[in-house]
Amino acid sequence: MTERPLHLVLVSTPIGQLGSGRGGGVELTLGSVLRGLVGRGHQLSLVAPEGSRSPVLDDAVQVHPCKGVDQPSWQHADRGAPMQIPDDGVLPRLWERALDLGSQADAVLNFGYDWLPLWLTPHAPAALFHLVSMGSVSQVMDRAVAAVARWDQRRLAFHTRRQAQDFDLVAPPEVVGNGFDLSRYDLQLAPSGPLGWAGRVAPEKGLEDAAAVAAALGETLRVWGLVEDHAYAQRVEAEVPPGTIEWCGFKPTAELQRELGACRALLNTPKWNEAYGNVVVEALACGVPVVAYDRGGPGEIVQNGVTGWLVPPDDRDALTRATQRVAAIDRRACRGWAEQWASQDALAMRVETWIRRGLSPMDGTIVR
Ligand code: UDP
Repeated sequence: MTERPLHLVLVSTPIGQLGSGRGGGVELTLGSVLRGLVGRGHQLSLVAPEGSRSPVLDDAVQVHPCKGVDQPSWQHADRGAPMQIPDDGVLPRLWERALDLGSQADAVLNFGYDWLPLWLTPHAPAALFHLVSMGSVSQVMDRAVAAVARWDQRRLAFHTRRQAQDFDLVAPPEVVGNGFDLSRYDLQLAPSGPLGWAGRVAPEKGLEDAAAVAAALGETLRVWGLVEDHAYAQRVEAEVPPGTIEWCGFKPTAELQRELGACRALLNTPKWNEAYGNVVVEALACGVPVVAYDRGGPGEIVQNGVTGWLVPPDDRDALTRATQRVAAIDRRACRGWAEQWASQDALAMRVETWIRRGLSPMDGTIVR
């Protein structure tokens, strides 16, 4: 690297402490970006809710904990719901600290999906960048993303093209994908394990369809992840014969990858425009083929016939038939795709390129 290292402030999600699982895929993404950027020699500060576990123990990262009440997630709000900030909320505190630190830094990188940092962007002296972690779920957020895009779209990046299509942009999107510390995931070649499903247990994840496939095949479905919606989990369980679902709980990456890697296939059944789909790539990194709906990030990640099978969204019969064909997928090819496209280092390089481009003077291709 010939350019000088950057001083960057990374701001975590306000919906839960890092390590709690409440931040979903964002927690893992933040860890990968942090480790990858440290590896590239940058100086980093991390602003995160108090009680967060830093993904790296390294002098290169200074952690700034902020007190306050968790921010409600947009994920389960009505599309037309107003922006809410709870009394004593952590979100304004994170941004107070980030703006303060940002005045001495090259850039501030936001990982939260929130209106406040987007709104601040044209007004703040610090250079704010946003890695948008979800597709469209709220009108307030759609408008805030579109406003930043009109002001200077170089401040926005997305995980996949399909996610970015949800937003009103003025130029082709910056797509950084995602990245993983692949040394933490072992390739397992045994082709005859159980079926698996992983993710937050919540309606937008469509667990009921994966359970229906397992029931149709007379098999057990192993399920890993935080049960976010208990009533939903009970409904899903009631729809299939007793014992179809084996609840495995939320596991740290080391255990998750060991158990996931023993699966014959991962079923991925999102009902929404999933921005990326970390669990899809985690499965691939272990050599596990993925059978997924051709929707959102998973539909862009899974290479049909090479790393798994894509079927029309919400078609349970097609999902069942595809699951019966996973033996045709080479588990080494799954790992190979993750190594080529989704390593932590590759992500950090893409993020760095995005930020350097956004910091460079306007070249006239984007109208302010
Ligand atoms: N996860 C985990 N342990 C589990 C199940 C899931 O650590 O037992 C993590 C998984 O590694 C992934 C995240 O939860 O990073 C889910 O992210 P994904 O992008 O699949 O969905 P999101 O929750 O962000 O919608």
